[in-house]
Amino acid sequence: MSISPDGAAPRLRFEERERATLSPYAAFAGESRGRAVHEPEHDYRTAFQRDRDRILHSKAFRRLKQKTQVFLAPEGAHYRTRLTHTLEVAQIARTAARALYLNEDLVEAIALGHDLGHTPFGHAGELVLNEAYPGGFNHSEQSLRIVEVLERRRNGTGLNLTWEVRDGIRNHSCAKCILAGEPPGAAMSFEAAVVSLSDAIAYINHDIDDALRGGVITEQDLPSDCLEVLGRTGSDRIDTMVRALVDGSSNGRIDMTPEIREATQRLRLHLYTYLYPCETISREIRKAQKILRELYDYLIANPTPETPPPRPEDPEGRNVVDFVAGMTDDFALQLYERLFFPAPWRP
Ligand code: MG
Repeated sequence: MSISPDGAAPRLRFEERERATLSPYAAFAGESRGRAVHEPEHDYRTAFQRDRDRILHSKAFRRLKQKTQVFLAPEGAHYRTRLTHTLEVAQIARTAARALYLNEDLVEAIALGHDLGHTPFGHAGELVLNEAYPGGFNHSEQSLRIVEVLERRRNGTGLNLTWEVRDGIRNHSCAKCILAGEPPGAAMSFEAAVVSLSDAIAYINHDIDDALRGGVITEQDLPSDCLEVLGRTGSDRIDTMVRALVDGSSNGRIDMTPEIREATQRLRLHLYTYLYPCETISREIRKAQKILRELYDYLIANPTPETPPPRPEDPEGRNVVDFVAGMTDDFALQLYERLFFPAPWRP
């Protein structure tokens, strides 16, 4: 049954509306390159809306709430976690995509899925697995592996997302090229490039906010020439950066206006040089790395009942990498305690 005036399925009307109203550079749901395994289309959701919903309902998405952004297992409720980071990226990306007449549903799906593959304890965990596992480890590839293989593992198709969403997840780290004024490494949709820049806009600003809140830095520690151009508050800076993204993207590429792009890049590099390696943060990261390295080594030699069984097509140890990478901060700490701390005797 349909309440649309001509009796057509609502999805067909939405696809038509996309063709009529979006930019010619947009990715149109009705022209998707499709899924690895063919599925009939839905009556009232486009392919990209469906993908967004599948990601939102996945287990990996729910685990993001207990994964570190920058501050490890923060006790204050106001610090970002990987989940709130993801939601901020989705908001920024949708705002920019709508202003650019790009596909908001595709942008939202990519944004919600982009960090699913993050390890516990943020990049600290990524470094440990990359060093320990002979095949190497990268969170973007792991995000893709989660949606293609690990979620809904039993039916063997993962979430079976469209090519466009998987491509956006795979290439979500290209902002560092765009901000450096270089072409992004891979050909990708405009929507994927918007998410990538929105990811940088989100983390630059919320990591500053969290660092100020935690007393790790004061405003004087930030480069004043950048703040003059970008704004003194997080909200002003996000607005400046998103405007620069909308105004700077035309004629077949996603970019920011040059002055704001350069100031954003300087601010970003400042965080990488002074904030992330600072002793307050790196002291805790070293502890987290030690825990994850010991967990990995132990689980390679001694699978626990929770370790997922190896898949015959995977190289040896991949199931342990997937297990460790999928852990939340809390789960990793609890497992470490269970495996390595003596249990109190309770008669
Ligand atoms: Mg991110």
